[in-house]
Amino acid sequence: MSETARTVVIEAFGGPEVLQLRDRPVGEPGPGQVRIRHKACGLNFIDVYQRTGLYPLQLPHALGMEASGVIEAVGEGVTHLSVGDRAAYASAPPGAYTEARVMPAAQVCPLPDEIGFDEGAAMMLKGLTVDYLFHRTTPLSRGDTVLFHAAAGGVGLIACQWAKSEGITLIGTAGSDEKCELAKAHGATHVINYRTENFTEKVRELTGGKGVDVVMDSVGADTFEGSLDCLKPLGMMISFGNASGPVPPVNIGILGQKGSLKITRPTLFTHIADHAACQAMARRLFGKVTGGEVKIRIDQRFPLEQIADAHRALEARQTTGSTILEL
Ligand code: NDP
Repeated sequence: MSETARTVVIEAFGGPEVLQLRDRPVGEPGPGQVRIRHKACGLNFIDVYQRTGLYPLQLPHALGMEASGVIEAVGEGVTHLSVGDRAAYASAPPGAYTEARVMPAAQVCPLPDEIGFDEGAAMMLKGLTVDYLFHRTTPLSRGDTVLFHAAAGGVGLIACQWAKSEGITLIGTAGSDEKCELAKAHGATHVINYRTENFTEKVRELTGGKGVDVVMDSVGADTFEGSLDCLKPLGMMISFGNASGPVPPVNIGILGQKGSLKITRPTLFTHIADHAACQAMARRLFGKVTGGEVKIRIDQRFPLEQIADAHRALEARQTTGSTILEL
C-alpha cells in the first residue's frame, strides 16, 4: 500500500525544534495488528521524555503514545475489534502523532459511543494511569489520604475526580493559585501551591501531624525528598514521573529511618501489557466517564503542525488538564 500519513518524527534528541512533520507510509496490518485512522491525538509528558532522550528511542522514531480513531483494517487473529469500530488507546511503540498507523491491537480498546473522539484521545494514557495508581499499585480504602503532586495537570485532574468518587481524601499540589482552584473544583479535598508554600509542612498541618497513607509523585527531583517526609509510618511512595528531572539515586536506608516506608516506581506499560488486564482497566475508566464521575477536561488544542508549540506549553507549565492535537 503506497498511502502515506503526516507523522511527527524525531531524527535527533533535543528541544521542541527536533519535532518534524513527515509523510510516512502507513502499510497493512499483519497478524495481531490493526490499521487505525486517527481522529485526534493526545499529548503527554512522556512524549517530552522521549523527545529529549531521557527515555531513549532508536532514531529516527515517530512520537506520541495516545490517540482515538476508527479501525480501518484488521490483521489475522484480532477478535476484539472490527473494521469501522470506534477505538482509542495508550500504547507503545511511540507513533501516535499521525493521521493513520498500523500498530499492535492488544492495547487498542473499543471506545463507547457516549465518549467523543476528542475525549478518547485526551483520556487513555492519563486515565489508565490513574486506574493503576488507585487500584493496582497499593491497597487504598475509603477514608485514606493521598498526596498528589501536579494535581491540575492531565493526569492530575482525572486523579482528583477519581479520588472523590472512591471516598479518598486527596491533597493536591499545583504551581499557581489558579491551578489550585482548578484542582479543588475537580474534587481535591485540600490544595497547596507548592511554589509559594512548603508542601511538607502544610501536609503535616492538614493531617494533624500524622502524614498521608500514600504519595503519588510525578514531579520527581524537586519533590521527592519532601514527599517522603509527608508519609505516615509504613506509608507508600509511588514515584511515577520526573517532570522536574529524574530522582537522584536513593539510599534505601532512609526508608527505615523515616518509618519503614515503601517505595515503588511503576509504569503504565507494565500494567497494560496483558491484553485482558488492559481491556478491563479501560472498561473501568470508560465506566467512570460515562457514569459522570470523571469528566475529561481538554484545555488546549493544537493542530498537528504546531506540535512544537504544544511541547513548549507543556514543559513551561502553561497547560492544565489534557491537551489534544487536531488532525
Ligand atoms: P501534566 O499535564 O501533569 O504536566 C506536568 C505538570 O508537572 C506541569 O503542568 C507542572 O504543574 C508540573 N511540574 C512541576 N515541575 C515541573 C517542571 N520543572 N517542568 C514541567 N512541569 C513541572 O502532564 P501529564 O498529565 O502528561 O503527566 C503527569 C506526570 O505523570 C508526568 O510526570 C508523566 O510523566 C507522569 N506519568 C507517568 C506514567 C507512568 O506510568 N509512570 C503514566 C502517565 C504519566 P504545576 O505547574 O502545577 O507544578
